[in-house]
Amino acid sequence: MALLDIHTLDAFYGDFQALFGLDLAVEAGETLAIIGANGAGKSTLLKAITGLVPAAREAICFAGQAIGGLPAAAIMKHGIAMVPEGRKLFPSLTVEENLLIGGWGRRGSGRWTLDAVYGLFPVLGERRRNPGTALSGGQQQMAAIGRALMSNPALLLCDEISLGLAPIVIRDIYAALPAIRAEGTAVVLVEQDIVQALAVADRVVCLQEGRATLEGRPADLTRAAIQAAYFGQP
Ligand code: ATP
Repeated sequence: MALLDIHTLDAFYGDFQALFGLDLAVEAGETLAIIGANGAGKSTLLKAITGLVPAAREAICFAGQAIGGLPAAAIMKHGIAMVPEGRKLFPSLTVEENLLIGGWGRRGSGRWTLDAVYGLFPVLGERRRNPGTALSGGQQQMAAIGRALMSNPALLLCDEISLGLAPIVIRDIYAALPAIRAEGTAVVLVEQDIVQALAVADRVVCLQEGRATLEGRPADLTRAAIQAAYFGQP
């Protein structure tokens, strides 16, 4: 049984349908990249998984339990954490307070403590008393990842973690991925940077206009197939 099993998921904003009968699975410990052009439905998928967009109960199963449409706080308690697009740190709180908030719905006694997060991203420890907004964009992204890890998730959802960051900073952030995977945490990465996605993912799914158009392991996907799935057939 997959850790996350999505079955014929539809998602709507009012009358507008953003996802059409999506099927998708994530195995425990797997890193899955979701790629696709602007508006393909990548963020909507993450929001449906985390309860921020309505979903049918049976359309999303996590660790064998139907969680579609549950309140976001209940879904988090099942062991799903999200690094939202744009980081969304609490501006009036320090780095450390932002991290501690991530631990409020904490599951059991997992590895991810404040010290473990500071070990993963030492700059956060140096800046623990600074307001989140005093950090650079890359440091804010590290804090957003650390905040999500503090709940000891079995599944970490990351929405465009490289967006707007310099290549050297992106490299530093992605360097943390092996340590996260080593804990057995499954990771879903929404990425517009296809090269980055292919480099780190065990498997890739491409969305186009709310439908999955391609699925496979990076080594098995040709450039032409990815282009067709990403942009549509000419
Ligand atoms: P991006 O990379 O631009 O974030 P995406 O693949 O994440 O793209 P979504 O943000 O999931 O795409 O958007 C999917 C579709 O749903 C788009 O057509 C978008 O315009 C629409 N959409 C997203 N959010 C809303 C909203 N709050 N209200 C109405 N439509 C929305």
